Amino acid sequence: MNLHERSTIEAIKARHNFKLSKSLGQNFITDYGVIEDIVSGSGAGPDDLVIEIGPGIGVLTDAAADAAARVIAIEIDDKLIPILNETLAHHDNVRIIHADVLKTDISAVIAEERAAGTFSGSVKIMGNLPYYITTPIIMGLLEKGVEAESITIMMQKEVADRIKAAPGSKAYGALSVAVQYYCDVEQVCLVSKEVFLPRPKVDSSVLKLTLRENKPVELLDEQAFFECVRGGFGQRRKTLSNSLTGVRGLSREQVKDVLAKAGIDGVRRAETLTIDEFAAIANAVSEQETN
Ligand code: SAM
Repeated sequence: MNLHERSTIEAIKARHNFKLSKSLGQNFITDYGVIEDIVSGSGAGPDDLVIEIGPGIGVLTDAAADAAARVIAIEIDDKLIPILNETLAHHDNVRIIHADVLKTDISAVIAEERAAGTFSGSVKIMGNLPYYITTPIIMGLLEKGVEAESITIMMQKEVADRIKAAPGSKAYGALSVAVQYYCDVEQVCLVSKEVFLPRPKVDSSVLKLTLRENKPVELLDEQAFFECVRGGFGQRRKTLSNSLTGVRGLSREQVKDVLAKAGIDGVRRAETLTIDEFAAIANAVSEQETN
């Protein structure tokens, strides 16, 4: 079945009396090249487990099932479950989970599949994400330490630009630092809004996030690091001397000492700091707290 073709999608909608839900971010892909880019970009191979977020009518699931040993597709919309059962019936390696991905214990799903011997390779997460929850999905996977080798996902281009931004650019912020702390970030492709049904307002981008085996910086306390990052960017127009005051209860005087210890000029702003510099600040904060 050519699930990417507009005529197929319309026929499925009519047969199942299915209406696309804007609030669930249902914009379906109609360009098979994009599907191929996501599957090949993810590196999913014949021994791997693919976890797909938001399968829709199963266009990416179908291609992933051809490439991988096993595919688990997590879909929230109950009206799509009978459709997926129909469109994916010819695959014996696909399991559909009817659930909210944000409430799903993905580590438990992976452990269950490994115990059942459904795959012997690594885990690749992929999806054309519902845009309204892109950041919570990504940060949830990273913060929970889900055992995946990579996460290859389509999102609004503007969010992708923020994730891959470098220090000094307007797009650089807490999301860039957080994702780059956990992952090596690479852009797989840009996707025009014209290839979705219905057409969204903005273009998209596919990013491959490869989970790092070793973190790029050594931290005394990860939480202190993230609080400094959030604090710094929380008031991004302010200098660090100002924006860090109050973070973890630091007084203005303590911020001055911490920045001096980290070798960072207090007149700088968060958007100019590299991950190493944030780490130096966070470690100075942690040291100060233990003194
Ligand atoms: N993969 C399909 C495609 O590319 O054509 C559909 C992608 S569509 C952008 C996003 C999908 O995620 C929809 O099927 C939507 O119902 C589903 N979805 C939205 N919120 C979800 C959630 N919290 N948990 C799981 N799936 C969700």
